[in-house]
Amino acid sequence: MFIPKLIQVTKEAKDDALTKEYLDRCRSIYPKVKVVYVENSKPELPAHLDAAGRYHHMKGTVLICRRTSSFIETFESPGHIVERMSTMVKSVFNCSSSCEFCYLGKTALRQQYQRLYSNIDDRARNVK
Ligand code: SF4
Repeated sequence: MFIPKLIQVTKEAKDDALTKEYLDRCRSIYPKVKVVYVENSKPELPAHLDAAGRYHHMKGTVLICRRTSSFIETFESPGHIVERMSTMVKSVFNCSSSCEFCYLGKTALRQQYQRLYSNIDDRARNVK
């Protein structure tokens, strides 16, 4: 089970009911979890850490924020790769696992915090 050590909450998500539920759930599992409030949904990774340190910091942290783009995304596969064209309903962003062979968390593109969205009820509006 993934248990974050640090939770970042954006100011827009701070008062959302789901944010409180996420925080309560995390605290019930790990009461020492640190909670900080951040200005936007792209907080920087600590610059003083080396690449490995940033990766482990990222993997131990969750960002609670509102999703501003659509919850529904279509990946238009360029072909000749494993992933085919697919349409996904996003409930979270990034992955909480740390499989040793995975390149996703190690690329600059993916060096972003895992996100829990506090406005997932908006998914239904995206479907309409
Ligand atoms: S392979 Fe990568 S994306 Fe898949 S579960 Fe492992 S860490 Fe997550």
